[in-house]
Amino acid sequence: MKRIGILTSGGDAPGMNAAIRAVTRKAIHEGLEVYGINYGYAGLVAGDIFKMDEATVGDIIQRGGTFLYSARYPEFAQEEGQLKGIEQLNKFGIEALVVIGGDGSYHGALRLTEHGYNAIGLPGTIDNDIPYTDFTIGFDTSVNTVLESIDRIRDTATSHERTFVIEVMGRGAGDIALWSGVAGGAEAIIIPEKEFDMKQVANKIRAGRNRGKKHTLIVLAEGVMHADEFAEELGKFGDFHTRVTVLGHVQRGGSPTARDRVMASQMGSYAVELLMQGKGGLAIGIENNKVVSHDILDLFDAKHHSEISLYDLNNDISY
Ligand code: ADP
Repeated sequence: MKRIGILTSGGDAPGMNAAIRAVTRKAIHEGLEVYGINYGYAGLVAGDIFKMDEATVGDIIQRGGTFLYSARYPEFAQEEGQLKGIEQLNKFGIEALVVIGGDGSYHGALRLTEHGYNAIGLPGTIDNDIPYTDFTIGFDTSVNTVLESIDRIRDTATSHERTFVIEVMGRGAGDIALWSGVAGGAEAIIIPEKEFDMKQVANKIRAGRNRGKKHTLIVLAEGVMHADEFAEELGKFGDFHTRVTVLGHVQRGGSPTARDRVMASQMGSYAVELLMQGKGGLAIGIENNKVVSHDILDLFDAKHHSEISLYDLNNDISY
C-alpha cells in the first residue's frame, strides 16, 4: 500500500482536525502518500481530492470544525454512488482510507472495504453515541463548552431566583447532559435513557427553595423534548420563574480540549497502523484508556451505553 485517503463525514466535531493531522503525519512518517478528500463522500464522488503533505496539516490541531469540510450525501448509501466513489479512488491511486464521522459514515466505510478498499472509521461526533468507545472525538470539548454556559447561567439564575431549563445536544443520547449536568451541579438532569416524573422535579425545586436555595438549573437532553415544552409542563406544577436556554450549535464549535486532541491523535495514528497491516472495516475506539478496534459490523448490532451511574450520582449530590 502506497497511498491513503482521508475524509470527514456527517456532523463536524472539535478534534476532527487533530485526527486528520495525526493520520496525515503518521502516514507520511511511515512513507505513505496521503490525499485529502473534501466534503465527505460527496467530495469523493466529485473527485474533490488533493495531495497533502506535512505542512498541509500544520496549524490545524487547535482548530474546531474540519478543514476537509463535511457534507451529507445520502446517494452514497446506493451502490451506484459507491461505484462512482471507487472510480475516483482508482483515478487518484488511493488504495485505502480513513473516515472520520458517525454511524452513517461507518456504513460508507464498510461498503468501500467490501469493494476491496480498506477503510477504517474514527468516531467523530460531539454526541458520544457510538458503541465500543468510551468517548468520541469532540465530546469532551462540547461538554466543556456547555459547562461554561451553565456556570454563566448560574450567575444570573441566582441573582434573580430563577429556574433555568438548559437544552443541550446529544441526539438520542444523554451523555452531554449527564457530564455537563454533574460538572455544573445541575439540580436535575433529564435524559432519554431515564424516565422522569415532572411532579418530582417540581417537588425538588420547591424543597430547594424552601431551604433558601436561590437558583435551579435543569439540564435537558434534546432527545427528551424541547426546552419550551418542558418549561410549559413544569409550569403546571407551580410558578418557578422558569427561563429557557437552548444552547444550539455553539456546542459543536470551538478549539478542542487537550483530551480531544490527544485522543484524536492516538486514534488517527492507530488507524494508519491498522491500514498498513492490511486491515479494513474496523472502527477505532477508546476503552479503559486504551485505543482499540472493533469490526464495524459488530457496531451496527451494538448499542451505545451512557454512563448512567452519573445520573444516580447527581441525584445523591445535587439537590
Ligand atoms: P454520521 O456519520 O455522523 O452518522 P450521517 O448519518 O449523515 O452522519 O452519514 C454521513 C454520510 O455517510 C452520509 O451523508 C452518506 O454519505 C454516508 N452514509 C450514510 N449511510 C450510509 C449507508 N447506509 N451506506 C453508505 N454510506 C452511507
